[in-house]
Order: sequence, then structure tokens, then C-alpha cells
Amino acid sequence: MNVHESKPSDKLNGLQTSDIPTIRLLPENVSSKIAAGEVVERPASVVKELVENSLDAGATEITVEIDAGGCERISVVDNGRGIRKDDVELAFQRFATSKVAEASDLSEISTLGFRGEALPSIAAVSTVSLITKIRDEELGIRLIVTDGEILDSQLYGAPDGTTVAVNNLFQNFPARRKFLRAVATELSRVRSFIVRYALAYPEVKFRLVADGSESVTTIGSGDLREAIVSIYGLDVGQAMLEISYDSENIDSEKINVTGMVSPPSIHRSSRNFTSIFVNRRWVQSRSLLYALEQSYKGFLMERRFPVAAVNVNLPLTDVDVNVHPAKTEVRFRQENQVFAALQQTVRRSITEHSPIPEVNLLDSTRSFHSGNAVSSRFWPIETFPKHTQEYEMSYPDGREGSQNHTSTPFRKALPALRILGQVQTKYVIAEGPDGVYLIDQHAAHERVMFEKIREKLASLSLEAQSLLEPVTVDLSLDQRELFVAQQKLFFDIGFQVEPFGGLIYLIRAVPVLLSNKDPAQIFIDVLASMEEGGSFDSWNERAAHSIACHSAIRAGQSLSDKEMTELTRQLEECLEPNTCPHGRPTITHISLLQMDRGFGRR
Ligand code: ADP
Ligand code: MG
Repeated sequence: MNVHESKPSDKLNGLQTSDIPTIRLLPENVSSKIAAGEVVERPASVVKELVENSLDAGATEITVEIDAGGCERISVVDNGRGIRKDDVELAFQRFATSKVAEASDLSEISTLGFRGEALPSIAAVSTVSLITKIRDEELGIRLIVTDGEILDSQLYGAPDGTTVAVNNLFQNFPARRKFLRAVATELSRVRSFIVRYALAYPEVKFRLVADGSESVTTIGSGDLREAIVSIYGLDVGQAMLEISYDSENIDSEKINVTGMVSPPSIHRSSRNFTSIFVNRRWVQSRSLLYALEQSYKGFLMERRFPVAAVNVNLPLTDVDVNVHPAKTEVRFRQENQVFAALQQTVRRSITEHSPIPEVNLLDSTRSFHSGNAVSSRFWPIETFPKHTQEYEMSYPDGREGSQNHTSTPFRKALPALRILGQVQTKYVIAEGPDGVYLIDQHAAHERVMFEKIREKLASLSLEAQSLLEPVTVDLSLDQRELFVAQQKLFFDIGFQVEPFGGLIYLIRAVPVLLSNKDPAQIFIDVLASMEEGGSFDSWNERAAHSIACHSAIRAGQSLSDKEMTELTRQLEECLEPNTCPHGRPTITHISLLQMDRGFGRR
């Protein structure tokens, strides 16, 4: 059937040809605004583009000032080589760049910028004032561009270098302005960019001033450790391990990994402190992060992350940076080799500096009933409370027997278990009605704590432990924002924390359940895990989970028989004993049939 022979019921029927829109090329001032959205998503992306331009111009000093998270004003001052007067207007045209001349250049990009899109995109959505002067000339030039139109251009006295000031970002884009999150969030994004560049370019002196107060300052000595000290503090800076590159251990001699990583004793609850660069470009690559984190396998607890500033150097032709307008994604020609090089190099420096990886296991050999293998001790069943015997058996895999007790009719029950021992100080092994059961001690305890805390929180009966001496804690802007928004909840869970000026807070009390931890660290950890949130719907559940996670026994902790029995008993009382609050299993099962088959009995 021909498309024109449409039936009367067709939707198109009755439409006049004049109703059908014609296709037109967008005028340049419209298309540039659309394109701008890809490059300039938010204040932090403006800062990123401007700082990249300064670095590309060979600046050794870069000062960034932002007001109201960058929404009102962003200014970037550099002492780089500047722009020739004749070129200044061109720099504001799309795809105008001094960095790439022909297509073949795109396969060998050595600069941070190359698309020629940043300045025109920024000027399309704000008012930009650019002042620049090159060394050979006496006077510089100042250009003012608003909504993509040049308003003013005049000779201007200025020091060598370039100053770009961006005012009223997204002035004509109320939708985008509204979409931007709180000032504090924007500032913390900007800050995290500056921190990354400061780590990638320790020879450059960086300053970030936010609403008049200094937020980041580095000295630009060229020494990475000094940059780390300026950013993460003396303790972290001094402890960082230099990565020792050893070409013999790495397949490709073209790949070179340098930088610093934290020893296993220093770790954080989020990935914000892990920076990976490829040819000194900060990349946010899941797989590279994974490779780095794998190097810490056996050294770090679950959900703890290293502090790292690591640069992967490789030939320009082996990496494609022209993947996305924001240029934070890259593709490698030989991906596996890059991962292997990163992982091996980091792993090597960690193991060299920490000769005993199984710290926890060695510790636990002091207690007599655990070790690398299944403990050989058995415990009698009588430690189980009576009620568990009264359940008809049901199974972790979901098959359920009938329950004859009405007190908890909807609860999934666990089978009655007899504890056999502990495996790898991580799993409790038990015998049940149909074979052997392994319980993940951390996951199980997390479930137990989660349900208890959730209940107590609902009845406002979580207890606080006052500190003998209040402790100060220095929050990030993100952390402060979250704390301020959830102040009542923090109080309800037992944290008594009050402002002490700026980003400093005073901790007066902590939840009793967490009173054996370092108060400042645990407060920050709870903030971080609440921010991450997991899959929880309510803030109360997030908070309950956060405390549960931090108070639960860990893998690596050796348990007495009494503790294991108690843990199993408490797990049995849970509403949802079979999974941890994240939904991972708490218990797995090897059936008798599986065992018999394994031994060729069936
Ligand atoms: P790109 O960086 O991709 O080339 P931009 O739009 O960011 O594109 O900048 C356009 C051009 O303006 C650059 O190629 C560069 O020549 C010049 N330029 C921009 N910022 C600076 C700066 N801070 N110092 C010197 N030159 C600059
Ligand atoms: Mg650029």
C-alpha cells in the first residue's frame, strides 16, 4: 500500500500541508546556544574550560574567584602567553582554535582544549569580559561579549596574561538557572575541579577564592607531595606513597604510571579523594577507578576508598580524548594494558610499603578458634533459644514451610542452625536441616542493626553519648549542606553537633552505637553514607542504614562462639533476615544433595 493512500481514520487525515512544519537551518545565534549546553552545563564546567585554557597557555599562576557558586560571577586570571589582539574576536567564534589545524591533529592532542567551543559557548549564555596582553606588546585589549554579541572592544592596560570574567551565567536561561542546585553544591563542584588540576599540575600555583574566602591554595613548587599537603593536609601528605614505576613488570614500555597513593591505613568513605589523570587530564573512568581500587584488594575494607593522585602517561596516539564535549571521557587503543599497568604499579607500591597484607587474619590467629580454614570446633545446639525450634523449616532460597506461630506471621524464617565455626574471619559456617549454611557476618549484623535502629529511630529512643571533650570537625560544603538540611534527623540519631564558625562544627555527642569510633571521622562517614543514600526511600532509612553499616561487625573481626550464636539468633528475629539492607544475601546454602554429588555419592 502506498503511504499516500491513508485510511480516513489516519491521524494525518484532515491536516493541511501548511500545518506541516518545514525544516530550516537554525540561525547561528540559536545553534550556538544549543551547542553551549553541551559544553557549559553549570558553573563548574565554565571554570573547567577557562582553567584548561589557562593551562594550555602555559600559565604558572591561576587564580579563580567565584561568587554565589559561580552563578553570579566567575573570574579566572592567568599569567599565560595571552592572545594576540587580532585574534581576540575570532576566539569567540565557534570552532575557532589555535590548538588544532587539520584533521590529523585530532589523533594527537597534547592540549586540554581543542574543540574551539568554550569561549563562544560561555559567551552565548552570559556576559564575558576578556582582558588579555601578550608579552611583546605594551597594551592589551579588553573585549566585552554578551549573549554572543560583541558589545565593546578597546585597548586596555593590563599585565601579561589573560583574565576572563563571566557574569550572570545563564542570564537568559531561567530554566537552567533553576535547575542548578544550591550554591554550596556548585561551589563544591568547582572546588573539586580545582583540586584535580592542582594535583595534576603541581608546578602551577592555584588559588580558588569563593565569596571572598580562600578555598584552595597551592604553592606551585612542582612537588606533588606539597600540593597534596596543601589540599588534604599534612597527615595525609606525609603518609602518601610514591608510585614506583617499574617497566620490567609492565607489558608495554609506552605506558608510564606516576603519582601518589595512600597507604592502606588512610582511607575515605567516598571516591572524591581518588583522582586519576591520563596525560594530566582528569578522567572520570569507572574502569580505571576499578583498576586502582582492585590494587587495594585485601588491604581496605568494603566501601572504603583510597586517597590517590595518579597519572597515566601514554603516547598521544594511543588515547582518544575526542569522545565527549566535556572531555572527561577517554578511549584507549589498548585498554587492558592501561588497566594492568595502573593496577600493577599501584599494587606494587602498596605491598612494598605494607609487607603484611593479612593484618586482620594475623591478628585473629591470637584467638584460638579461627584462621584461614574452617575452624574445627563445634558447638552444641542448646544455645539456641527455644522458639527457633518451633518453626517449621524454611529455606533461604525462598521455599517456605508453614509457620505455626502467630507472633511474626509475615516474617521469612531462617532454619535452625548449629554453629560450626568461622571462615576467613568473614563468614560464620553452620549446619542446618539440609546441609551447610554460610552467613556473611557483616551483612548479617548490618541487617540486624538496621532493623533495630529503624525501630528505635521511629520511637525517638536512640541514645546519644556525650563526649568528655567536644571535638571539632571541618566539613566540606556538601557535607555542611546535608547536615543543615537534616539537622533534626542527626539530632534524633544521637549526634549533637553545633556550628563553630564557617565550615567548622563542634561535636558534643555521638550515637551510643558509634561511641567507640573517632567522633569526627564517624560523623563524616555517616554524612557520606547518607549522601550516597543507596536505594532507600526515606532519610530515616538512610540514617538507620548508615549507623547500621558503621556499627556492624566487620569482615576480619574474629567472633567467639557466643557471639556467633547471638548473631544468628538476632538474624532469625529480623523481618527480612535473608538480605542485608542493600539487598545482598546474608546467608547462602550448600545442600546435602550438592555435597553428596560432589563426593560422587549420588
Ligand atoms: P579551545 O581551547 O578548544 O581552543 P576555546 O574556545 O576555549 O577553544 O578558546 C579559543 C582560543 O582562544 C584558544 O584556542 C586559544 O588560542 C585562545 N585562548 C582562550 N583562552 C586563553 C587564555 N587564557 N590564554 C591564552 N589564549 C587563550
Ligand atoms: Mg578551551
